[in-house]
Amino acid sequence: MIAKILFVLFLMVLLIIVSKQLRFTPKKRNHVEKLVQCANCKTYISGSRAIKRYHSNETIYFCSNKCEREYKQKRKGEKK
Ligand SMILES: [Zn+2]
Repeated sequence: MIAKILFVLFLMVLLIIVSKQLRFTPKKRNHVEKLVQCANCKTYISGSRAIKRYHSNETIYFCSNKCEREYKQKRKGEKK
């Protein structure tokens, strides 16, 4: 009889823990930012901080203005 009560209590505690975890995980996932790669130096940066440039139907990301300039200069060099 005591074993049954303990088992039920154990199940209740388990349910509380599981429900708490289920409530917290979606919130954490929303805070994880999408990472994008800098086209010039290949560094990964968060999408909100990256400089976005649209070039022939694709989006190019840069970590800084300096990288954008360097990338453009490289492209000019390739065309020659
Ligand atoms: Zn960069």
